[in-house]
Amino acid sequence: TSAKAYKDAALAARLSDRYYRPKQDSDPSFTAEVEKIGGTEAHICYQCGTCTGSCPSGARSTYRIRNFMRRVNLGMRDVCLNDPDLWLCTTCYTCSDRCPRNLIPTDVIMAMRNIAARQGIVPKNFLATVNFIYNTGHGVPNSDANRAARVKLGLEAEPETTCKYPEYIPAIRKILEAYGTKQLADKVLAEG
Ligand code: SF4
Ligand code: SF4
Repeated sequence: TSAKAYKDAALAARLSDRYYRPKQDSDPSFTAEVEKIGGTEAHICYQCGTCTGSCPSGARSTYRIRNFMRRVNLGMRDVCLNDPDLWLCTTCYTCSDRCPRNLIPTDVIMAMRNIAARQGIVPKNFLATVNFIYNTGHGVPNSDANRAARVKLGLEAEPETTCKYPEYIPAIRKILEAYGTKQLADKVLAEG
């Protein structure tokens, strides 16, 4: 027994410098909050990097999904929520298809975006998109060029969406207002 205890103690000593010690800016509840909203066990990420290696956005920017996974697990709430790269994920879900731990990194990002938005931390171009959705039901509204292209392809000029059924736009507006999204967009965009 004593030999085992000695062995374990020696091992603990050898590994001691590898344990993360929370610093002042870390918040252990952040990991749990992100996992609850995102519905995925972020804490079992073993940092293999498959997600970053698969990420089309990361190939063209400073965005690194593996880095976000690590920082989530270190409870780095403020660092994550204030990093502009949080908004560079295209939500293509390639990382989620390939994660060997069956995690959904995309939903980790979405969870953090939700938390950030509640604090009013949203890039202005995203809030401009909110206004497009509010006014047309689309983040990218239809245009004359698009209509002409559709007709050329033998399609109706307007797709089977709010473009063709604008009577559903008021319901979309209600949703954006109920969650305070429209109000947030108006407030931040008015600040210039
Ligand atoms: Fe973590 Fe999965 Fe990304 Fe690997 S692929 S670093 S396990 S989230
Ligand atoms: Fe990258 Fe986001 Fe696509 Fe994942 S879902 S591969 S993080 S762009």
